[in-house]
Amino acid sequence: MAGMTSSARPYLNRRLAEFGTTIFAEMSALAASTGAINLGQGFPDTDGPEEIREAAVRALRDGRGNQYPPGPGVPELRSAIAAHQLRRYGLSWDPGTEVLVTAGATEAIAASLLALLERGDEVVALEPYYDSYAASIAMAGGRRVPVTLRPHEGAFRLDLDELRAAVTDRTRLLLINTPHNPTGTVLTRDELAAVAELAVERDLLVVTDEVYEHLVFDDAEHTPLATFPGMRERTVTIGSAGKTYSFTGWKVGWVTGTPELVTAVRSAKQFLTYVASGPFQYAVAEALALPDAYFEAFRQDMQTKRDILAAGLAEAGFKVFDTAGTYFITTDIRPLGETDGFAFCRSLPERAGVVAIPNAVFYDHREAGAPFVRFAFCKRASVLEEAASRLKTAAAARG
Ligand code: PMP
Ligand code: GLN
Repeated sequence: MAGMTSSARPYLNRRLAEFGTTIFAEMSALAASTGAINLGQGFPDTDGPEEIREAAVRALRDGRGNQYPPGPGVPELRSAIAAHQLRRYGLSWDPGTEVLVTAGATEAIAASLLALLERGDEVVALEPYYDSYAASIAMAGGRRVPVTLRPHEGAFRLDLDELRAAVTDRTRLLLINTPHNPTGTVLTRDELAAVAELAVERDLLVVTDEVYEHLVFDDAEHTPLATFPGMRERTVTIGSAGKTYSFTGWKVGWVTGTPELVTAVRSAKQFLTYVASGPFQYAVAEALALPDAYFEAFRQDMQTKRDILAAGLAEAGFKVFDTAGTYFITTDIRPLGETDGFAFCRSLPERAGVVAIPNAVFYDHREAGAPFVRFAFCKRASVLEEAASRLKTAAAARG
């Protein structure tokens, strides 16, 4: 993984030695120091709904959540999470035993892996994967087994035969992410059905990161893995308020699953943060109850932003992959005469005044990810237009 050299980290244990500083911190710092437009780290440059911000202020003023909230999360939020899953997907969870509030999806991922893995267990994960997966698997003493999504007809796709072949007698769980960061792929219903069949056939647990559940575009649809036959009892589903309500700093995430799975995850979670984000939990409870019109307007707005950035990147000479979901567009830099995404991203602020993320950091098979670069489009339209124009100018200057 990217970051500091090992000599700068003399005390770090062997489990974490390969990870260094996250690419998001590195690239956001580069954006700050150079004044470049930050299309690296995925955070919106406008806050979410005013009424939800006000709900947080009200909770704070009313003294709700200013002291430790209950370990599993405040009852209002747990009920709202359950109601939201029922309303959107027909999934029924008992807010008392089947819902756990976490410090963002990041803690949910870490706690799930710490709770469910024995040392040496294999975790099959889709590559490229979100960087905290590799670190959390390592902290839990597991072994990651990547299955690489590859470009096919303009988008990154999962090869189901490769997925099947990756499962061994040592596999404990499948770690799935849809909509998928960084490729923007949304697994289809058929692909998810095949994942579910495999999990049932090989008796695997599934941890599924669905934080971009509301960010699906055009005719793509998000279907939770837990809705497939045999999956309810073996799936830990992870969600987050950060993406859906544009409050990534609030760090309110959650886990849903059977009482046995949620209890296991809570056993690890209680020793990580115990609890977090008290007043924000009340505000997110209100956010989850917003009418469908909110989610539709948000999706439409993000889709328009995707289109602005995709068009700008194509004009600047990048190959642009289809983005069916998330905040991100993955590009191929080879049409620009470049092959090394790391070098490209490190020099981009100076050359073009724009920051992006080299997808190679999300790969074990570094060479497979080398020419791919990720741009975030969760920014104001004027910012995306300015970034596109700078990239075009820089490409022209290079000739
Ligand atoms: N999973 C994925 C796929 C993500 O992209 C992110 C953050 N952008 C997270 C988890 C972490 O979410 P949170 O900020 O709620 O911890
Ligand atoms: N998930 C965000 C991204 O992919 C970053 C979150 C973080 O900085 N850890 O850009």
